[in-house]
Amino acid sequence: MTTFPDLKTVIITGATSPRGIGRATADLLASSGWNVGIIDLDEAECKNLANELSSRYGIQAYGAAADVADEVMVRAAIDQVENNLPQIVALANIAGVSSAVGYLELTSQEWHRVLNVNLHGVHYVTHRVVETMVRHGVGRIVSISSVSAQRGGGTYSKTPYSVAKAGLIGLTRSLARELGPHNITVNAIAPGPIDTDIMGGTLSEERKAELVEDLVVTRLGTTADIASAIRFLLAEDAGYISGQTLNVDGGLYMH
Ligand code: NAP
Repeated sequence: MTTFPDLKTVIITGATSPRGIGRATADLLASSGWNVGIIDLDEAECKNLANELSSRYGIQAYGAAADVADEVMVRAAIDQVENNLPQIVALANIAGVSSAVGYLELTSQEWHRVLNVNLHGVHYVTHRVVETMVRHGVGRIVSISSVSAQRGGGTYSKTPYSVAKAGLIGLTRSLARELGPHNITVNAIAPGPIDTDIMGGTLSEERKAELVEDLVVTRLGTTADIASAIRFLLAEDAGYISGQTLNVDGGLYMH
């Protein structure tokens, strides 16, 4: 079995949001010695984060802008990362959008916006990155689903979000099967409520208390809770875990 090279790169999508899961993951992985390729919407923010990570942690980092829903942009951005950083070994699909529109008010435009970013976007990025991983005979992929996929919504975001995040679980299982022979593992993480700004802005204390009501672990999740689970699944010694969805949700969904 091919092992990890000495110098390895992880691509992280959706990494520039200051209080987001992607940013916390980029920090944790860089501090653990990963070189980091940043893909997000704003070019300047991608470059700034890459500079910050390389000066703080002494690793190589490169930022390239892409809307993950645009396959041409995605391929160009990942080509740039590949040309500028060591071997791509891992991918964290974190970019995503929320959607609080109820089904009865839902427009076709909103349906497609959410599916395009949260499901098709993950496919575009993964499809391009997998080309490289297969060539090297090693890879780790983690995509961020949501407990919303398993519980039928019940969170801030409604149906198209739940559908897209459920689609990621299917994508994960199918890719795990097809890519296993190439020494590539594919897993998903289903977070519960995490204290970021994606649920319509920074959460009030009242809103936080409501979100904690159904949990077994009686606190809101942190970006660090998700980042550490991502680091675990991307590690070389997690090679016997594939096709799984790991709930990091304070016990909200037990299966
Ligand atoms: P966030 O802070 O809003 O982060 C989302 C990131 O994705 C941002 O950096 C955003 O960029 C980027 N992004 C959005 N659309 C994009 C596109 N089309 N192309 C490229 N990048 C794009 O929210 P978060 O809470 O950290 O969410 C991260 C992931 O976790 C999402 O997939 C979300 O669905 C999932 N999740 C979150 C929770 C939670 O409770 N927070 C629970 C379950 C799952 P901009 O900032 O420039 O828009």
